[in-house]
Amino acid sequence: MKNFINRSGVFTVMIISLFVFIRPCLLLAQTGNTLIKEKIQAALDEAYSKFKDVKEGKNADYIKELAQVDPKIFGIAIVMTDGQVYTKGDVQSMVSIQSVSKVFTMAKVIEEQGPKAVMDKIGVDATGMRFNSIVAVELQKGKEINPLVNPGAIAATSLVNGADSAAKWKSILNIHSEFAGRPLSLNIPVYISEAGDNLRNQAIAHLLLAYGRMYFDPVQATDIYTKQCAINVNAKDLATMAATLANGGVNPLTKKKVVTPETVMYTLPVMATAGLYDDSRIWYFGSGLPAKSGVGGGLLAVCPGKFGIAVVSPPLDAAGNSVKAQLVIKYVVEKLGVNPFLIQPK
Ligand code: GLU
Repeated sequence: MKNFINRSGVFTVMIISLFVFIRPCLLLAQTGNTLIKEKIQAALDEAYSKFKDVKEGKNADYIKELAQVDPKIFGIAIVMTDGQVYTKGDVQSMVSIQSVSKVFTMAKVIEEQGPKAVMDKIGVDATGMRFNSIVAVELQKGKEINPLVNPGAIAATSLVNGADSAAKWKSILNIHSEFAGRPLSLNIPVYISEAGDNLRNQAIAHLLLAYGRMYFDPVQATDIYTKQCAINVNAKDLATMAATLANGGVNPLTKKKVVTPETVMYTLPVMATAGLYDDSRIWYFGSGLPAKSGVGGGLLAVCPGKFGIAVVSPPLDAAGNSVKAQLVIKYVVEKLGVNPFLIQPK
């Protein structure tokens, strides 16, 4: 008996030391040993005070409801791949996800049909033209586009598995919720506002159909796409979605496997080349991070293996990207030295 108590005592001590000493070391090693807690929070705090009074930019107003959103909403969130969360500012207020949703619908299609289907049926080339360009579709007869511009995004929506429109929408809302780690819902006023005014997207969907590059009823596909753009999110939701990508498809907060590492592997390069509209190359040059912005004012970026970061701030620059979000994320990336192309020689 005494022997047993001794042995179980030793065992307990071993387990405790594993959790107290070894686990934090492993976590630190996983997140990169320079990313200590205080440094991350300090970078967010500094970025917040440095950029909170920036006045440039203007809310999108081509979707009428977006012009009504409070331009002062300003929230920053980082979610680490080990589940730690850092925030600063307003990470509660919701905005419509808009184009950021294109990433997660693309991931769903890659997951269901493989990267080749996306390459062959949509394309993965940056168009070099505006996100809702009809000319880009016409010039290449519906080819050479990608799922992060409107034509490719509506085509991606049309490809999502589901017998009818309701099933496709359910699946799209579900994958967004799994990436965010909580049930997301629709911003009805934004949806109604855009649905009544999306003739251009309807035209794009019909043109794709004419070229044999639309895979569901174009009116219904555009409607589902419009709904997906109106999903409500806050900065923490977006950071969690980015962190799920950074973590190879497993949500670091819920620990649920949302997509495979291979799906993430094919999703990130499209974000790197086409995530910030006409300024995608400028963004990638300056940050080295795959990212995606939306006209609702959200911007998320993925630091592979380390963390997801997101900012919500509605005023946009001429290219359609949140002014403050770009400043904040670039600042934090530089402060933490996490640009993946910053390689210290051995
Ligand atoms: N729903 C918007 C549209 O189709 C999305 C635009 C965006 O965020 O880029 O125009």
